[in-house]
Amino acid sequence: MEGYGKEILLSRDKIQKRVRELALDISRDYQGKEPILIGILNGVIFFFTDLIRNMTIPVKLDFIRAASYGSGTASSGVIRFSKDVEIDIQGQDVIVVEDIVDTGLTLSKIKESLEKKGPASVKICVLIDKRERRETEITIDYYGFHVEEGFIVGYGLDFNEQYRHLPDIFVLKEKESPT
Ligand code: 5GP
Repeated sequence: MEGYGKEILLSRDKIQKRVRELALDISRDYQGKEPILIGILNGVIFFFTDLIRNMTIPVKLDFIRAASYGSGTASSGVIRFSKDVEIDIQGQDVIVVEDIVDTGLTLSKIKESLEKKGPASVKICVLIDKRERRETEITIDYYGFHVEEGFIVGYGLDFNEQYRHLPDIFVLKEKESPT
């Protein structure tokens, strides 16, 4: 992308190691249960599949696709689902899996909407917890990494649909304009 460069933040090895740890933590906490993991498309794809493949308990899967209205890099807090959950979650243990949490508005709306369907529990697992712009009290039950600031791409995360395919995670940097 012209005008932007990228700096590596998390190598593929570091990501894989941490995702394995997370999968084992969740497997231990849900021992004897069969939670439903709900991935938030599209950014979660790599994290979701790596996480599930490392789990040692049976799980069920579903996906939500959320689109937030408004422009700019901050989300507006108004959410619509272009794909809602299809599996019946009533009385079930649900784990929402998301790539990154920033303001927390998207995840708190998703959690609110899922809770209306009567699950036994809803927990949240994110790969990257970016706290700089948090606007809600939402509890992140499992996280891979804390990142203070910056716009993150790679390992499923995009900027205008670019960079998703990269196996490592980068911070996007605006290039200094030539004088
Ligand atoms: P929130 O509602 O927590 O502010 O925003 C969450 C959504 O904004 C994420 O699911 C993701 O789509 C997008 N987002 C927030 N921060 C970043 C970032 O650093 N990089 C990318 N690629 N997306 C981000």
